[in-house]
Order: sequence, then C-alpha cells, then structure tokens
Amino acid sequence: MLLAEPRGFCAGVEKAIKALAWMVRVFEPPVYCYHEIVHNRHVVDQFRAQGVVFVDDVEDVPAGAPLMLSAHGSAPEVVTAARSDGRVVVDAVCPLVTKVHHELRVRARKGYTVLYVGHHGHEEAVGTMAVAPTSVRLLERVEDVDLLEGLDSVEDQPRVALLAQTTLSHDEWAGIVDRARERFPDLWMPNRSDLCFATTNRQAALKALAGQCDAVVVIGSENSSNTVALEQVARSFGCPRVLRVNDAAELPDDLSGTVGVTAGASAPEALVQAVVARLAPTGGVHRSPVTVEEEYFPPPPELRELLRGLEAALGLLNGAPSDGGSGAPGIGEGSGQVLAGDRTTVAADVLEGMAG
Ligand code: SF4
Repeated sequence: MLLAEPRGFCAGVEKAIKALAWMVRVFEPPVYCYHEIVHNRHVVDQFRAQGVVFVDDVEDVPAGAPLMLSAHGSAPEVVTAARSDGRVVVDAVCPLVTKVHHELRVRARKGYTVLYVGHHGHEEAVGTMAVAPTSVRLLERVEDVDLLEGLDSVEDQPRVALLAQTTLSHDEWAGIVDRARERFPDLWMPNRSDLCFATTNRQAALKALAGQCDAVVVIGSENSSNTVALEQVARSFGCPRVLRVNDAAELPDDLSGTVGVTAGASAPEALVQAVVARLAPTGGVHRSPVTVEEEYFPPPPELRELLRGLEAALGLLNGAPSDGGSGAPGIGEGSGQVLAGDRTTVAADVLEGMAG
C-alpha cells in the first residue's frame, strides 16, 4: 500500500473545526452553523451529536443565537444578515478564500470583467461570486471561454481578470487558463494561482504514487470539491481503478495489487487509519511524502475576542487579574492557554475528545 503525504485536514479545516468545537464548549446548545462547517459527513455528524444545527439560511437562526459561518466563505449579504438580530457570529472562512474575495472586489472596482473558474452551486463559488455579482462570469469548462459574449469590443477592449475556486484539480484549471490567455492576451491573474497550497500539495502527493497503483482510494465526501479533484488527478495519471469512499465500510472486497490511499482536505485521519486497517496490506504501508505542511491559521478574530472576554469576566468573578492566562475555571482552564497553544492543538484530537 502507498499512503499519500500530505493528505487529509488542511490548515483551513483545522481552524474551522477547532473554532466550532470552542463554540460548542462555550454556548448552551443549539449552536448554529451556516452550511456544513467543512464538507465531510463524519465531521458534520459529530458536531450534530454535540447539538450543532446546520442551516442553509441564516434567517432560520433565532435572534441572539450563536452562529458560525463555514470555512467555504459566505456572501457579503449573508454575513451582514447573520450579524443582525444580536446573533453571536464567528466567521470560520479560510483566509485563502478571503484572499480570492479580496482579489475579486479589487478587480471589479477597477472595472475588470472577472472570469471565475469554479463549480456552479458550490458554496465557495456562490459566496465568492456574490462579492461582485455584476462583474463576474463563471467558467466551468474550457469551452466556456469561447462562449463568453460581450468581451470583444475593439475600440474599448475590456479589461479581463481570471480567478479561481481554491480547490480545483490542476487539470481543470490549466486548460481554462491556456484558452483564456489565447483569447485575452492582456489577461490579469494573481502572481500565484488561487488554487490553495493544500489542494496543490494533496494533488502532487497523489500524482507521485498514482502511476504505480492498481487502485487508488480517495477518502472524502462527494460534495467536497478537493476530494473530487483528487479522483480526477488519480484518473488522469493513469490509475486503472479509482474509488471515492466516505469510510472503510464502503470499501469493496476485491481490491488487489498495489493500492494507493489519500484523503481530501476535510477528511479526518481516523478515517484513513480505519481504511488502512481494513485493507490490512500484507506488504506493509509505504509513505511517500512530497512536502511537509507547516501552514497555520489562527482562530477567527471574533472567537478570540469572545474567549478573551469570557476569560476576563470569569477572572474578575474569581478575583483573579484579567491577564488572559489566569486559569479561571472551565473557560479559564482553556481559553488563555488554548489561544496561546492553538497552533499545537490538532483538530483530530479535538474531534476525538468530543466523541469520547
Ligand atoms: Fe483553505 Fe485550501 Fe483548506 Fe479550502 S482546502 S480550507 S482554501 S487551505
């Protein structure tokens, strides 16, 4: 068996899961979450068991209730609506999605038509395009570049920019970039593509092993864009059999030869280990790391403020100085120290702790 490295949780997913776990600890249930916190059925079910209610409309969240916004990023009007009615809102958007929102906002303000490569209806794409809806056009396939209308004026050549959903497969992105450059020679693009480091690294790790495999197992949910991208990568690198499974229970009984295993950015490592155990490879497990990820995203600012406020209040009640690290019971036992130690806290352990 060949095990891809890196795989599984990325820094954005780590941040979102740890933040929602804090919300669950701090507030009485229900805590609300706008959209799935990350696209993984097991993670979502674990939070449901802790009293988290997932909604697709912030108007379904009562006034004053605690509400987390998912890692995929939300439309500006959703964020505004969420913050009305006294709700306690924590936005767990990944900073790399925020970066794309910013690029779109700036290009639209400068008069560009922005071509956005993404998946119709995916939450990240919906949230991003809502930043400048009248300036953006969605591209899903190479052919969509040729179908664009109203961008060929000779005397008043429109300025065109190209941005992307963070979790595309490299092939999806590359074909559209090439065609867009041909059609719009002055195309503006960010210095680095919007495909995030986690997407790129997981695909590179899989490419390194896919050609040697008789079958590749990709662990993750079907609505996880980067998981689906991994399936595409394995196929395009010649692997004869590619399976996406939610967990070990979905593995078929007839896998043989060299099996490669990887996991999408929202799939917990526990699921990977269960798959490895179920496959029980007689030839052992060979790891093929292509890079070591050290990226870390700190907790959302609203959560940091919330925890500091609670800690200060509890510290005052206990007569302790409110210095952010004073060991107030419950919250205090964690908040100052956890905020300081958040970098070394692992979301997989947080999930395991919740389950236990
Ligand atoms: Fe952020 Fe990339 Fe992870 Fe999405 S896959 S949460 S963009 S790091």
